[in-house]
Amino acid sequence: MRADPMTAPQAGAIAVRAPATGELLGEAPDTSAAEVRAAVARARVAQAEWGARPVRERVRRIDPFRAAVARRAGEIADALVRECGKPRAEAIFEPAIVADFASYFGKRAEEILAPRPIPLHLMLHRKSYVHYAPRGVIGIISPWNFPFFIPMADAVMAWLAGNAVVLKPSEVTPLCALLGKRVFDEAGLPPDLFQVVTGRGAAGAALIDAGIDMCVFTGSVATGREVAAACGERLVHCVLELGGKAPAIVCADADLERTARALVWGGFANSGQICASVERVYAVAPVYERLCERVAELTRELRQGDPARGVVDVGSMTWARQIEIVEDRVREAIEAGARALAGGKRRAGLDAGLFWEPTVLADCTQDMDVMRKETFGPVLPLMRVADEEEALRLANDSHLGLIAYVFSRDRHKALRIAERVEAGTVMVNDVVMAAGAPELPWGGVKQSGIGRVHSEEGLRDLCHARHVNVDRIRPFARDPWWYPYSETVSRRILGAARWLFR
Ligand code: NDP
Repeated sequence: MRADPMTAPQAGAIAVRAPATGELLGEAPDTSAAEVRAAVARARVAQAEWGARPVRERVRRIDPFRAAVARRAGEIADALVRECGKPRAEAIFEPAIVADFASYFGKRAEEILAPRPIPLHLMLHRKSYVHYAPRGVIGIISPWNFPFFIPMADAVMAWLAGNAVVLKPSEVTPLCALLGKRVFDEAGLPPDLFQVVTGRGAAGAALIDAGIDMCVFTGSVATGREVAAACGERLVHCVLELGGKAPAIVCADADLERTARALVWGGFANSGQICASVERVYAVAPVYERLCERVAELTRELRQGDPARGVVDVGSMTWARQIEIVEDRVREAIEAGARALAGGKRRAGLDAGLFWEPTVLADCTQDMDVMRKETFGPVLPLMRVADEEEALRLANDSHLGLIAYVFSRDRHKALRIAERVEAGTVMVNDVVMAAGAPELPWGGVKQSGIGRVHSEEGLRDLCHARHVNVDRIRPFARDPWWYPYSETVSRRILGAARWLFR
């Protein structure tokens, strides 16, 4: 980005610039390790009181936050447009999804977190249940591509589960997180229940070291490894939501018009900076050429520009380093024989910002980096395959497995393929949207992560599953297998085991 230093930032502070123009938007403090530790200590005090409230009461207290997010959705979207360079039509999804999470879990949290009885098959004189107790302080570390939706949806779930949250947003987009904090405070919730510690990577590391009870991390595989190691060292439970390299398998019987439109939207929305972005397409030979043509046509129709100045389909990229990665991937692919059917370069005339033209690359091969490594940019590489079996084999030939897509008119066939794809989520004839639905489990296999967020499973994971075991009938003074042991006791246990497992 060609930065225009209109105002010099304060020493140590993080200067935040609009990626579409380079304009200085504001500054965020670089929080020290001591301040992060103090924030976690304050959160712990607030959590003790919050976590003791029944779920129903927490729901009631969170509801004004839901209403405030909905009321201020336009303002939040404007902030996202400026800080991320994304089109307004995409930005508006972020507060909408957060309000949806608050609404969805507001209605269901009590039921999901209700004690769960466990029928006992042998100890019939006793009964058991799992009681969901808050974990305590949840540290959320979030990336820059969805700076409002990702941390705030996780935070809503954490609060409903009875926890306090300390959030470390990406240094690239701290202002939207700080806006989230202001909305939270205005909703009349205890201020220390949600704190934002802006800063660089070191502030994230400090958060893990500050005595948190769980870490919800979303980001790259490389940082995820460091986070997992740091959490392992301290035996802190962590969920890791990492990179993706979503394959799309296009069968011969796919609805080509819908498929092409889905690929273009799934590849270029948010300038391709979505962990669920379509990152590689395997189309079977009979439809390959027609699909390439249609995808290229639709891509050339996209309007790109500064989203703060009017309606565009594609905005700028968000982070200067990311556009360099895109540049490398595209250059290498073309040198190795890929054909650029659309785009392929930085956008001329918009060189003050991080604009990369939506790029369609045909004739890619599996050995190219653009097919193997996460690009996280507006690049859609397509490869011709002989048949669906080859597509499936290549889709699974990856170290990542977050989400995958199958396009076919034959639902049974599509489902058979879907169930063999190595990914946390597979969508048939659709793209991306599963990532934002509160009821759907979200997470990856292989190096795309560990654990699941969203969904009932995600809400329960924000709690300790405390098992309680209690007598059903008034107990005797001693159970028959307690001390003192005797030959008779051993004989009876042996007899019972033989009879039960005969
Ligand atoms: P990074 O891994 O670079 O950063 C993620 C967060 O970790 C940032 O807040 C970062 O701070 C912080 N961080 C950096 N170093 C450390 C450290 N040593 N300890 C603790 N925290 C640290 O990811 P990006 O922000 O670049 O996000 C893009 C990546 O996120 C892509 O790979 C994408 O696929 C993935 N992602 C995954 C999603 C999923 O649901 N699976 C969803 C969205 C994105 P700072 O930025 O200040 O350095």
